[in-house]
Amino acid sequence: MDFDLSEEQKMIVASAEGLGGDFGPDYWGKCEIGEAYPEAFFAGLSELGFFGLGLSEESGGSGAGITETALAMEALCRSGGGGGPALGYLFGLLGAMTVQAHGNEAQRAELLPKMAEGKMMCGLGLSESDAGTNTLNIKTFARKEGDEYVINGSKWFSTNIERSDATVLVVRTTKLEDCARRSDGISLFLVDLPNPGVSFQPISKHAFNYYKSHSVFLEDARVPASSLLGEEGKGFYQLLGTLNPERILVASGAIGTARLALKVATDYAGERTVFSAPIGSHQAIQHPMASAYAKLEAAWTTTLKAAWMHDAGKPQAAVGAVANTAKYLAVEAALEACSHAMQTHGGAGFAKDYHVERWFREVQLFRLAPVTQQMTLNYIGEHVMGLPRSY
Ligand SMILES: Cc1cc2nc3c(=O)[nH]c(=O)nc-3n(C[C@H](O)[C@H](O)[C@H](O)COP(=O)(O)OP(=O)(O)OC[C@H]3O[C@@H](n4cnc5c(N)ncnc54)[C@H](O)[C@@H]3O)c2cc1C
Repeated sequence: MDFDLSEEQKMIVASAEGLGGDFGPDYWGKCEIGEAYPEAFFAGLSELGFFGLGLSEESGGSGAGITETALAMEALCRSGGGGGPALGYLFGLLGAMTVQAHGNEAQRAELLPKMAEGKMMCGLGLSESDAGTNTLNIKTFARKEGDEYVINGSKWFSTNIERSDATVLVVRTTKLEDCARRSDGISLFLVDLPNPGVSFQPISKHAFNYYKSHSVFLEDARVPASSLLGEEGKGFYQLLGTLNPERILVASGAIGTARLALKVATDYAGERTVFSAPIGSHQAIQHPMASAYAKLEAAWTTTLKAAWMHDAGKPQAAVGAVANTAKYLAVEAALEACSHAMQTHGGAGFAKDYHVERWFREVQLFRLAPVTQQMTLNYIGEHVMGLPRSY
């Protein structure tokens, strides 16, 4: 078994580390305090072609895969970005992944080259206040009228919609009560923005304040029928195709963020002397950090295995088993690492200047989005271990 990176992969990691280093913790700290979108970082990401890493060459991408995207994600977060790239880069990729997988020839030819260059940003509008974990409960509805669809409903936590050129909107085109199966009747639309029927209001939130997440209101929002992505009524099954890459990338971001927090805490523990020796020499400080390090290493190996399986075209169910395991392990390890990074810093951990409190807040998101830890365990319990479904 060969665990070495190829020359191309090493170059991608080195470029990501370079950009992550250029936009280090102070940059993200200032963005968060000023609630300012990290514009310059995203310009750098576009320049490196990172939005096209997972897209084919004919679509304007570099023809690499999820493995390379995961390597870039981990390195961007680890080398200075913390959680910032983990959320922003991932959400910048979801639209392109959906269009690549489900767009028709015309949509792919028009949209993907712009997305690959980072010139077209596209968010995701899936969650509703009564439908987060339970996607099938979405109520937002698109009614066909001539060669248009008219959409009514609302979305929740749509991130960066205010600065997106489009959003992938997940809606019902058949009401739940009229569907033979609950998973039928859902469709995906690529809605160009702005649209007079789409308005939004920011949600004041716990972390990631350099990105705005919004409540979105759709009131007779008209979209051309050509904005349907894939087949009407099959949207839920289409979404399943992007779930594994999403889990792999969120795992990579969580691991990169936690490794950064652990490195900063290790440096601090080696220097900070409270009694007669650096605090890092006390096992109550050292062992939890070593334990978090070991768990992050195990999670990273699992994440790369899932990415490799995905790129090698293994069956989605087999990839799902490893991708869900990786997401679960990565986030548990990241929560532990960031918690110990805070404890190692003592009171300094509360000071924004030391940054660990920001990463501690940021990793909390990965417990919840884009999928909760409980749902990864439900997947493993039911689909991998064969236990009965509980809900
Ligand atoms: C900062 C941020 C940004 C986001 N950005 C976006 C975005 O851009 N687009 C978008 O569409 N969404 C976005 N989301 C929404 C996010 O994907 C959802 O919050 C997430 O999927 C969880 O859904 P929920 O909040 O409705 O939780 P709920 O479904 O209400 O669940 C609450 C808790 O109950 C648990 N639970 C529920 N059912 C079960 C069960 N059967 N078994 C075990 N446990 C269960 C869940 O795991 C969770 O812990 C964002 C969220 C945040 C916080």
